[in-house]
Amino acid sequence: VEEPIHEAVLGCAAERGDTPALIDGVEGTTLTYAQLDTFHRRIAAALAEAGVRKGDVLALHSPNTIAYPAAFYAATRAGASVTTVHPLATAEEFGKQLRDSAARWIVTVSPLLQTARTAAEIAGGIREIFVCDQAEGHRSLLDMLGSTAPEPDVDIDPAEDVAALPYSSGTTGVPKGVMLTHRSIATNLSQLEPLLPMGPGDRILAVLPFFHIYGLTALMNAPLRQGSTVVVLPRFDLDTFLGTIEKHRITSLYVAPPIVLALAKHPAVDGYDLSSLKYIVSAAAPLDAELATACSRRLGLPPVGQAYGMTELSPGTHAIPLDAENPPPGSVGKLIPNTEMRILSLDDPAKDAGVGERGEIAIRGPQIMKGYLGRPETTAAMIDEDGWLHTGDVGYVDAEGWLFVVDRVKELIKYKGFQVAPAELEALLLTHPGIADAAVIGVYDSDNNEVPHAYVVRQPTAGDLTEGEVMQYVAERVAPYKKIRHVDFIGGVPRAASGKILRRELRERL
Ligand code: ATP
Ligand code: MG
Repeated sequence: VEEPIHEAVLGCAAERGDTPALIDGVEGTTLTYAQLDTFHRRIAAALAEAGVRKGDVLALHSPNTIAYPAAFYAATRAGASVTTVHPLATAEEFGKQLRDSAARWIVTVSPLLQTARTAAEIAGGIREIFVCDQAEGHRSLLDMLGSTAPEPDVDIDPAEDVAALPYSSGTTGVPKGVMLTHRSIATNLSQLEPLLPMGPGDRILAVLPFFHIYGLTALMNAPLRQGSTVVVLPRFDLDTFLGTIEKHRITSLYVAPPIVLALAKHPAVDGYDLSSLKYIVSAAAPLDAELATACSRRLGLPPVGQAYGMTELSPGTHAIPLDAENPPPGSVGKLIPNTEMRILSLDDPAKDAGVGERGEIAIRGPQIMKGYLGRPETTAAMIDEDGWLHTGDVGYVDAEGWLFVVDRVKELIKYKGFQVAPAELEALLLTHPGIADAAVIGVYDSDNNEVPHAYVVRQPTAGDLTEGEVMQYVAERVAPYKKIRHVDFIGGVPRAASGKILRRELRERL
């Protein structure tokens, strides 16, 4: 796709007129497609007048609001690269991202202004902080709607110019700035569209954050490109989430596994009318097949769909097509068009793994990132000379081309020559009725063997589930080398905003 991202997404917006593009799930405020089109153009003009130039990095620091997409597309229209920021980042974390990305501009919201100011002081180099709402002493995007400045005429090269600079989740190390061009993002949208079509009648609930590439793609770019209505929530709270589905007759959910878990297991779910839902898609972290089935059965929906991707891939490479008949349980889907995949043997990466055999997933296609910002060695270590991006994820493909993701290469627990995937044990633990949530890491025992160590959150109603009961439950269901050797009961599993278990934090705790 050879269009800047704002054109690729909003090219038809003016024609869609009064169709609601975005609705605030709490307040009910609506932004129509025509308004989104006009507003982002005016804001782009005002940003250009304020000095935003092609190639400048603008940090977008906000929870999900109906203004978020307007700010994003305005910035890209003005020629900026948008680095999206976690709204709960501390001033230090935000400051680091500003410095790392050499940002010059910030767009924030008044409740986060103090953090943004401190971050700007830490980083230096920020020319101005704008607010989406109103705050004394700061130019507001709302006021910019009245701008009479001319629309910026920026010459964007979609293949080279960076539209978004999201940071990877930091699950395995420091978050890295990922340079995604207009072309790679827009191309990935068009690749995913045939598998996960959305249309004018669809109402998508945007509770996962827009700042993460999954939310940015599945909850903002894709539905707005296809004319759906996006109902926005600023944070996840189960009752508000369920109440919003009921009130706004949500048809489509794009969520992460913890929400599937809540939908499958939480008693609150029965108190709401969720009959408007047509389907649920889960991505960003491993989802257990049994859990997925429990969720779809409880809600009377087709099997929970899955999708797979990573920030570096703009992000999606696999999805279960919405119209697939009987997709195999546990699969993350089929390869999208115009993309190649290899499964590299874990023993000899020069060889391909056979059908059904586990190996590292490698991807080649037009949606691959331009690189990590300022980290040429890390980029070179990930993308080889032939253009294959090594994902660091272990997976296998069945005879019909369905991909199954096992876990990350680095997370596999190596026990006496065997390999145990923590995700598999976590999934098994979740099938226990007394377990609300679980995480597994490898730890070294006194004989220097790496063995599985479980962190378990008890179901509040489950009484006192013991370590012995948990270990026995698993031992009865897995080969002996996969047995769990220790259990710690904890209050909650640490997770990234995208729903991923932060095993790194559990390891540090230990
Ligand atoms: P970092 O790279 O900073 O350590 P991260 O890899 O978690 O963090 P993201 O780009 O947000 O950052 O996540 C991509 C990863 O998420 C993939 O490499 C994969 O491990 C995991 N993932 C995504 N979708 C799925 C899925 N459907 N099933 C299993 N894992 C998934
Ligand atoms: Mg990663």
